[in-house]
Amino acid sequence: KPSIKLELFEKLESEVRSYCRSFPTVFSKAKNAKMWDLDGKEYIDFFAGAGSLNYGHNNERIKQKLVNYIMEDGITHSLDMATEAKGHLLNTFHEVILKPRKMDYKVMFPGPTGTNSVESALKLARKVTGRETVLSFTNAFHGMTLGSLAVTGNKFKRQGAGVPLHHTVSMPFCRYHGDEADTIAYIEKYLEDSGSGLSLPAAMILETVQGEGGVNVASFSWMKKLSELCKKYGILLIVDDVQVGCGRTGPFFSFEEAGIEPDIICLSKSIGGYGLPLALTLLKPELDIWEPGEHNGTFRGNNLGFIAAAEALSYWEEASFQKEIEKRGSLIEETMNGIQQKYPNVAMEVRGKGMMMGIAFEEGDLAGEICKACFDRGLIMETAGTDSEVAKVMPALTIEIDVLKEGLARLADAADQVLG
Ligand code: PMP
Repeated sequence: KPSIKLELFEKLESEVRSYCRSFPTVFSKAKNAKMWDLDGKEYIDFFAGAGSLNYGHNNERIKQKLVNYIMEDGITHSLDMATEAKGHLLNTFHEVILKPRKMDYKVMFPGPTGTNSVESALKLARKVTGRETVLSFTNAFHGMTLGSLAVTGNKFKRQGAGVPLHHTVSMPFCRYHGDEADTIAYIEKYLEDSGSGLSLPAAMILETVQGEGGVNVASFSWMKKLSELCKKYGILLIVDDVQVGCGRTGPFFSFEEAGIEPDIICLSKSIGGYGLPLALTLLKPELDIWEPGEHNGTFRGNNLGFIAAAEALSYWEEASFQKEIEKRGSLIEETMNGIQQKYPNVAMEVRGKGMMMGIAFEEGDLAGEICKACFDRGLIMETAGTDSEVAKVMPALTIEIDVLKEGLARLADAADQVLG
């Protein structure tokens, strides 16, 4: 193995400027919720690949399936061809996820990333309705390509890109930008006015908990009202479950308990099971008006992703899995509430759902400082929010309880250093 040192990254500047420097070390190995750097230092991972490692690093069950598949010369890449691995995933997804929830959706492979899924959803909604605009929400994050960026409410990401703003309209998100009832009234007024002359939007695109945008949680009642508005005005509801799907908030789909039925659902990140690139777009059967090849991408036929995804879904055959997520979520919340109670003079809010929780600070760069102090204690954490104001905890759903508790103790200690 060549000797790779951190200086290599710093000196060569071989990588386009990114935020990799926020963790100043070179990582080499990982298992479930732990990572090790080249010096053998151990870290607890509360970041989980930005939500793409819900089943942990190098999940043993999934690894075995992948290794066996490769050893048997299973097909790795097949574009749109029918393969055994793809059939297995489609069947498993239907049997384990859709059927028990009485959900009737067609499955599309839009390409390898979350952005690909969002793009396919936006394109389909525009094609089905013959309308142009899409409503999105303040602080939303849906991806980095021009279409998905157009529905992303983040000035920093948008600036300079020449995003076609005229195709999207940003709406206030739940209680974060006004009172819940007021934001619904605002949206309804916009739709009423649109219906009386301007053209109505094709779709609304929603994260039920805004991940990158700062762990902002939409209430069930707000989502229900939004969904009713969509029905009333013939607007398609797209739920972007790229980050909060696959159990991040507890149930497999983040919207399950809200009792809404999206027209289109975007999945990626942890659907690939092993950190492999994979995305699915689910659509109501009557929306399937794609012509063959109308939306595609070379790596939509990633069979290793299919194998990993199908095995990961087997976690959902056991009802206890969701209970374990909820148990871990409560532990995270308890620690965060403890920090809040200990420092009543620091303005902060604890928020989130399931195993995506955050502490939002009102002033300064406290979230960033806490994440740095966490790193010094061997804990990987990231900030979220348009001003990086939220310290976000998002470990693998499979994290061992003792590892979780140890990580939370490090977080509490880091908070003491910064806030005390
Ligand atoms: N939607 C949401 C909600 C996301 O969090 C992300 C990624 N952070 C995306 C879409 C884009 O996914 P990708 O980076 O895989 O293109």
